[in-house]
Amino acid sequence: MKRLDGRNALVTGGSTGIGRAIAIRFAQEGANVAINYHSSGEEAEITHEEVKKACGIIREYGCREMVVQTNVIDEGDVQEMFARVLDAWGRIDILVNNAGIQKAAPTEDVSMNDFDRVLAVNLRGAFLCAREAVRHFLARGGGGVIINDSSVHQIIPKPLYTPYAVSKAGMGNLTRTLALEYAGRGIRVNAVGPGAILTPINKAWINNPEKKAEVERHIPLCRAGTPEEIAAVFAFLASDDASYVCGQTIYACGGLTLYPDFRTTWSSPD
Ligand code: NAD
Repeated sequence: MKRLDGRNALVTGGSTGIGRAIAIRFAQEGANVAINYHSSGEEAEITHEEVKKACGIIREYGCREMVVQTNVIDEGDVQEMFARVLDAWGRIDILVNNAGIQKAAPTEDVSMNDFDRVLAVNLRGAFLCAREAVRHFLARGGGGVIINDSSVHQIIPKPLYTPYAVSKAGMGNLTRTLALEYAGRGIRVNAVGPGAILTPINKAWINNPEKKAEVERHIPLCRAGTPEEIAAVFAFLASDDASYVCGQTIYACGGLTLYPDFRTTWSSPD
């Protein structure tokens, strides 16, 4: 018996990186997976091909897949996305709020447009999807699971990425507040806080050996993580193995939340 046998999952931002790995891992665990993503411009074609490949892998595991291209910032579109999945499958058991973006700029140069866009995808999108999922879980009874893809920057400041850090800090209390509000009605809400993971969001350094080494120098486990290592934590939280885990963020970050600068005794010299 696989841990997610027969369950239906909706994964936002499931076309690449961590979301794609979650979609595939969930299917490996027996879940049917609806992959959401939003892509435009030059990258759209490549993304569509990658999503097709992921769908093929999901089918190879004997599970059903569907693709819902939706911008998670739009209330009406999110409602339509849930309606489409529910029309096709009748129920959703697991929502993963993974869609996310970031943009670097000194805070004094951040435009309101960029601030609003990062907050809209990372936090408003997660809220809109969580609200639809909760409405569905309550209407059908029997509870459900929501897992948010947060970040170590839920608790660690990130200069030059103020909108991103603010959005992930917000995700921390989105997780805890929903968990407390709905725990008594069988809905488990948790989050995963990845560290530095080898995905397209980090294209600035993942294929540059020198920059990658510089990133990895800061990580207690001495290496960046893989999307599959993060997907494994999502699979645990989605499964009944985590049936008593409620309102928590599990940091899968190679030790980044351990104040790595304290590896040495600089603070208490002889
Ligand atoms: P990625 O760029 O590979 O994937 C982002 C996904 O989000 C894509 O599928 C994209 O289509 C989707 N997306 C973007 N805007 C969207 C929108 N408006 N509506 C719907 N989908 C949208 O990035 P990733 O590294 O896999 O990131 C996934 C999540 O993990 C993000 O929330 C990110 O903040 C979080 N995270 C990543 C890292 C890391 O190091 N990679 C670390 C911590 C947290």
